[in-house]
Amino acid sequence: METKEQETQGGPQAPQMLASFLEHLVKNQVLTLGQAAKAAQWKQENAAEKRPMAELLEQEFGINRDVVSQQIAQYYAFRVIDPRDRSTRHLLVSDINRILRSLPESVTQQLLKAQLLPYDLAENQPDKIVLVTPNPSDRDIHKLARALPFKKFEICYLKQSDWNEYWRLLTLEREKPASEKVVAPVTESSESDFEGAMDREIVRTLLSSKLDNIFADALRGGATEIHFVPQGVRKTDVLFRLNGHLSLWVSMEDVRCEAVATALKASGTNLDRYERLAVQQGLIHGMVEKRPLRLSVSTIPVLSRDPGLRHESVVLHVMQETESVPSLDGIGLDPHSAEVLGVALSGVRGLVLFAGFNQSALRATIAASLKTIVKPTLNIVTVEESVEFLVDGVRQIKLNPRLTAPDAIRAIGAHDPDVVVLGEIDDPAVAPVALKMANIGQLVFSSIHTRTGVTALARLFRVAGDGLLLGDALAAIVAQQTVRKLCPRCKQLIPPAALPRTIAHLRLSKGESVPSTLYRAVGCIDCRGGYRGEEVLFEAIPATPDLREILAESEGHFNAEAVLKVAMRDGMIPLRRKALELVEKGQTTVDQVLLFAV
Ligand SMILES: [Zn+2]
Repeated sequence: METKEQETQGGPQAPQMLASFLEHLVKNQVLTLGQAAKAAQWKQENAAEKRPMAELLEQEFGINRDVVSQQIAQYYAFRVIDPRDRSTRHLLVSDINRILRSLPESVTQQLLKAQLLPYDLAENQPDKIVLVTPNPSDRDIHKLARALPFKKFEICYLKQSDWNEYWRLLTLEREKPASEKVVAPVTESSESDFEGAMDREIVRTLLSSKLDNIFADALRGGATEIHFVPQGVRKTDVLFRLNGHLSLWVSMEDVRCEAVATALKASGTNLDRYERLAVQQGLIHGMVEKRPLRLSVSTIPVLSRDPGLRHESVVLHVMQETESVPSLDGIGLDPHSAEVLGVALSGVRGLVLFAGFNQSALRATIAASLKTIVKPTLNIVTVEESVEFLVDGVRQIKLNPRLTAPDAIRAIGAHDPDVVVLGEIDDPAVAPVALKMANIGQLVFSSIHTRTGVTALARLFRVAGDGLLLGDALAAIVAQQTVRKLCPRCKQLIPPAALPRTIAHLRLSKGESVPSTLYRAVGCIDCRGGYRGEEVLFEAIPATPDLREILAESEGHFNAEAVLKVAMRDGMIPLRRKALELVEKGQTTVDQVLLFAV
């Protein structure tokens, strides 16, 4: 048998096969009879779920995944590779890298995602490749193997930890410069000398594995951005954005800053490691702990005190996979905002405007909205400056220095989309197109950076210049603001009288009263500066006939008061009121309210 065809995904699925495999596990003392019965029942009750068996048994019964994978390999008679046995190897690591380099980028990425790597050529059969993976029975693996430029293939099992080590070995070899063994003083007299010095620096400092560890930390910690900031000749600060706040994660010392930027650019696509004077944008793809990691890379040249240094600031945005996109009921919408947004999303046309300060939180709301409406027959296209969420079934266009917003917007017309997501609506290139699309029958999402829904509408009114047209285009405005919450451990009660100026800044109106309880943020080991966690507040304005009338009648002058009045009559609870309620409950400070709700 040249290949092992297995029409299963990540282990046996059909009932008889499942029973027989579970029996196999019991016989080999991996599962008890009781556990096997439970697993069978679980699988039956959750038939739709495609979780691989090894993962299921690990998560539900705490069985070591490697043990189960090894049993799957044994059950289907996949050969088990022991990387420590090198006696039968024919191919060198450099040969494997040559094979990988010869493949189209998309195939390499799929290989990594599926954790499938070429390992060797079969003995006396140069057209048969031996492939290794920790998931030999995964159906995708067989499809992928067939896509490789070899007539035949054999899929072998390699333990997860061995696979990781093997991949690391390949990566290290790839980044090792050919001249590494030549010992020569680094003079950097020419550009190629400089690049060579960078290569040696990357190898010497094990930079690739350091970066891998930073990526793993970021993924584990839920960081949304990773910043690499040069701080002198041999120091680069690494900052993570966690929960919207940037903080120093680690300082990389004893590595030239240029080497860090070079290593990052070399590990990505669409990036030129030799270019240090231009703005660049690209992508880094990888696997961290069996999870795909996608980072969008942005580099900007920055000045340094020493004219001989070529420093760049590099920011990586962590793209969230579809599974990480929150659902609409998981983002904290209040009932009224949820209803308004729900109605807007169920329509086939109109502009849904998302307003707020926190870009990342806005993107999460838009991604959650897309996830709600996505279906195969709906053509959804997004044009994004930086992609934070990857939503399956959505065609996402990432802008870059060679693809500007006007170019992308012009191009998507030919794709005849049903739903379009356009970046910031106050961009003069965006506003007229967004309004036009919404008017002619497309559902358009866009965002705007304002404090409230009413100010968002005021800004849009000015851009649109025509209240009638705007009213007709608009479906709804959903505004959101993020409030940091006080740390319950260290917050300090203070009498309102102690803060006369802060209270004055609130400019309380007639209907509002001074909060009876006020707390101050202090700071302790449990929190950051007295705050721990945050809450997202929403307010929503639907485009009702009354609102449209107000807009149509506002001749050149936006009537904010009338809009607010009609929005509140229709059920909107203003963000400011919600924030003040949190102050009253002792959950946040007046300072937080002042950030957006004055
Ligand atoms: Zn605290």
